[in-house]
Amino acid sequence: MSPLRSVDDQLSRMLAAAERVGTETVPTSEATGRILATDLRARFAVPPFTNSAMDGYAVRAADLVEPRTLPVAGDAPAGAAPVRLEPGTALRIMTGAPLPEGADAVVPVEQTDQRPGPGPVPSEVSFSVAAKAGANIRRRGEDVTEGDLVMRAGDRVSAAAIGALLSVGHAELEVTRRLRVAVMATGDELACGGEALAPGSIPDSNGPMLAALVAQWGAEAVLLPASRDSVAEFLAALEGAGEVDLVITTGGVSAGAFEVVRQALTGRGVEFVGVAMQPGKPQGFGAIELGGRRVLVACLPGNPVSVFVSFHVLVRPLLAWMSGAADAATHGMRAVAGHDWTPPRGRTQYAPAVVTQENGRLVARLPHELGAKSHLIASLHLANALVVVPADVDAVAAGDELEVLPVAGFAGGERHGMRRGMRRGMRRGMRRG
Ligand code: AMP
Ligand code: MG
Repeated sequence: MSPLRSVDDQLSRMLAAAERVGTETVPTSEATGRILATDLRARFAVPPFTNSAMDGYAVRAADLVEPRTLPVAGDAPAGAAPVRLEPGTALRIMTGAPLPEGADAVVPVEQTDQRPGPGPVPSEVSFSVAAKAGANIRRRGEDVTEGDLVMRAGDRVSAAAIGALLSVGHAELEVTRRLRVAVMATGDELACGGEALAPGSIPDSNGPMLAALVAQWGAEAVLLPASRDSVAEFLAALEGAGEVDLVITTGGVSAGAFEVVRQALTGRGVEFVGVAMQPGKPQGFGAIELGGRRVLVACLPGNPVSVFVSFHVLVRPLLAWMSGAADAATHGMRAVAGHDWTPPRGRTQYAPAVVTQENGRLVARLPHELGAKSHLIASLHLANALVVVPADVDAVAAGDELEVLPVAGFAGGERHGMRRGMRRGMRRGMRRG
């Protein structure tokens, strides 16, 4: 048996075979999940003008050194140009309205004798407090000023980024072209779409799960119908991928007698190797000619947890590299093992785990009593991270510190559907959280 190839080696070969895609300009409002192609600096300051932080009354602090009554000269509504505040008077002002010239403080309506809410402007207002210069005022540029760097090339556009970029004057963005990724599962045993299971068949969970992962990481997923274990059928189905940047297949790459993907693509530019990881050892990668174009192909194993792990460990960094995304790098997040388990010898383990915060530290637990087994797809959704156990570690003991790669929010959300076999400790943890 040939020695296993390290994950780093496999990944660097994959990246070396891949190319960066080009860029395009899109409206910021439609850019969720896209990757910025350029650094972006603020064209507008935020706030763009000094304005009121409260509904209330704009005053000169010097006119209100102690509680008193002032005549109200009018309104300063939001969306209007700044008005002038005459000394010895107040102006009714709304949140976000430009601070009137001459005013240096806003007193909230709750600290006056006036009722909050709609109503005619009063002729005078009695203040129950003194005013402090600068109080309840948002200064022009106190968040960012013109020319400040707001985001960098390689940043992924989040919902908050859309808000930020629009507010600093970028209504259009130069982003990298969205990747198109075809996904195809293989296997004679696959049933689709919830049909009753014939003897020996299982639902195709890999195809739709992979398509969702691809979409979650910002690429367009083309989910092809699953192929049966026939080389001719597989190759014909591959032609249906159309103009894509990458094809991901699942199944048919390991040591069985019917390994359709391996049979179909060996000698066509795809290399099949054992990678020193668990789960996810059998891997194929290369470039094939498809419809006259060179298309990358990543051939993942068939077990669903292997597919999920292979995506995060190998495919996600590949997509990030191709699209220029800077967020595939790990951030050195660490957690302690919540219990003992036995990782495989000689392979880096990426165990799907539930990471929670307990007494100020992150604790990682495998969601299933059987440990990190590659077929335990029904409990995979509980995991929010992959725990990385180095290849030379033979035993994990409770309290050992390990690197974790987040795969979903740590906020946890609602966890439901715990079944028999799930860890008792976790069940308790869930009730608490
Ligand atoms: P293979 O590598 O094709 O031998 O598949 C390995 C294991 O993964 C077998 O137990 C398959 O039944 C299972 N498997 C393969 N493809 C899928 C799929 N699309 N969805 C769910 N399980 C699969
Ligand atoms: Mg198969």
